[in-house]
Amino acid sequence: MENNLQGVLKGQKIAYFSMEIGLRNEIPTYSGGLGVLAGDTIRSAADLNIPLVAVTLVSNKGYFRQKLDASGTQTELTEEWTPSNFMTWLPQEVSVKIQGRDVKIQAWHYNCKSLTGGCVPIIFLDTNVEGNSPEDRRITDFLYGGDHTYRLKQEIVLGVGGVRMLNALGFKIRKYHMNEGHSSLLALELLKCNGKECPIVKDLCIFTTHTPVEAGHDKFDYSLVEDMIRDQNDMEILKKYGGEDRFNTSLFALNLSDYVNGVTKRHSRVSSELFPGYSIQAITNGVHSYTWTCPYFRDLFDRYMPGWANEPELLVRIGGIPDDEIWEARRKAKKALIDEVNKRTGAGMEYETFTIGFARRMTAYKRATLLLSDIERLRKVNRRGKIQIIFAGKAHPRDEAGKQLIRDIFKSIETLRNEVKIVFLENYDMDLAAKMVSGVDLWLNTPTRPYEASGTSGMKAAHNGVVNFSILDGWWIEGWIEGVTGWSIGPMPEENLIGEEARVAELNDLYNKLYYIIVPMYYERKDDWLKMMNNSIGMIAYYFNSHRMMRRYVTHAYL
Ligand SMILES: *Cc1c(COP(=O)(O)O)cnc(C)c1O
Repeated sequence: MENNLQGVLKGQKIAYFSMEIGLRNEIPTYSGGLGVLAGDTIRSAADLNIPLVAVTLVSNKGYFRQKLDASGTQTELTEEWTPSNFMTWLPQEVSVKIQGRDVKIQAWHYNCKSLTGGCVPIIFLDTNVEGNSPEDRRITDFLYGGDHTYRLKQEIVLGVGGVRMLNALGFKIRKYHMNEGHSSLLALELLKCNGKECPIVKDLCIFTTHTPVEAGHDKFDYSLVEDMIRDQNDMEILKKYGGEDRFNTSLFALNLSDYVNGVTKRHSRVSSELFPGYSIQAITNGVHSYTWTCPYFRDLFDRYMPGWANEPELLVRIGGIPDDEIWEARRKAKKALIDEVNKRTGAGMEYETFTIGFARRMTAYKRATLLLSDIERLRKVNRRGKIQIIFAGKAHPRDEAGKQLIRDIFKSIETLRNEVKIVFLENYDMDLAAKMVSGVDLWLNTPTRPYEASGTSGMKAAHNGVVNFSILDGWWIEGWIEGVTGWSIGPMPEENLIGEEARVAELNDLYNKLYYIIVPMYYERKDDWLKMMNNSIGMIAYYFNSHRMMRRYVTHAYL
């Protein structure tokens, strides 16, 4: 395997720290959008020759493999994987102090290579090192597993250990980019290396927050932090920058970063309200165009818009592609998904039927069951024009509400058994995501506002001519033009409806637009539907891609 570290040490780099990274399906070190975004960030940096090195944990036991029984009850199997099949074990060793012990850290090296010749090295930190206690060896096993203590140990390894490992490997770092607050302890290490000079550290650090609600930000009791860190000087620093009552990783990162951003315009405004007095910029997320465009559309784009993969702006020229060729690419992508669904479930879904997709982490605010909440109105839609629905998504092992959502969907599947075909596909991962976002006709998103900081799966759908139908939250506020790029559900962005009032408005739009606009257009006005498909590509994908995002990070944050 060609994973040469020498070749990638040249020059000064941006160090990109993320608890999870979704590089490829066989490397299960991601749980959802945050990790896939990190993967897309790395892929675009490699394509664009941006000098980046990424740091994460190896998560030897992965996130988890989802099993569902007949009632939709989820059980979690470990997703053991073998890093040595993909990566090179590096000889360098560093250590961090946890509870007074020296915990040794080594690392795996993986190169993300681009066809353009660019390459981003990724350092996977691993505490499964000889000499560590059995307990310490397991620190880098489970992504988002364990309790607060386990998580804090992981954050010490990622932040403090990550900085030390980059130094030990010989990387010269000019900026440290924290993808979410999990890695904010890197700033503690930087303070100690720079004479506790806050301005020096701030100049080095960039912080991207992803969490739009107060409760979502990682916080640790100082008693726990003290037990883990056991160094009075360190504790003083943590308390000075990390909040009075509890150690708030986001606040720590905010106080020690000159450049802070949210992941959409709306999210940066919401974050500014959450953290008054801080200047929080906006860099709207994007997805890696090549990765999330299905093979059929890749071929088409290659023929008509050569160079599109490294310059997704070219997708603006979608109008030059003959309609029948676009239809043909859609037809093939849809067939591939329907065949996969039928193979997996025996549901007998049909190629010609209007197909709605909903797949993402199963967690309460994403409201996977909103579409199923009024079965009578859904039946009515189905009488207007036949529909079928495909769901997928994992619930975090400790998210009981998320798990209940899956069981609720299974109940609805039973209720509608002989009327509307609905399936829930097991074990949502990057490969299944790619099939779903390209194979359905309509991509549905129904989060509770303002919880969806960005959302990215709708951007993936748009790259494949799949039309979005979503609540106006996160990225969709910026991508949505009613009846042109897709449709909205519920209150306008500036409307402040909450609770039951918002829900009534949302349900009305959800069912009425399906009944009166969307389903009839699909079946009866193919030309109009084709226009929506074109606009998804030419007006959404051309902008909501990670090449545009990374160029913004370079000009606004890195330089
Ligand atoms: C893109 C992606 C996500 C994020 O989906 P959202 O709808 O933006 O939450 C989650 N999981 C996987 C596997 C993905 O590919």
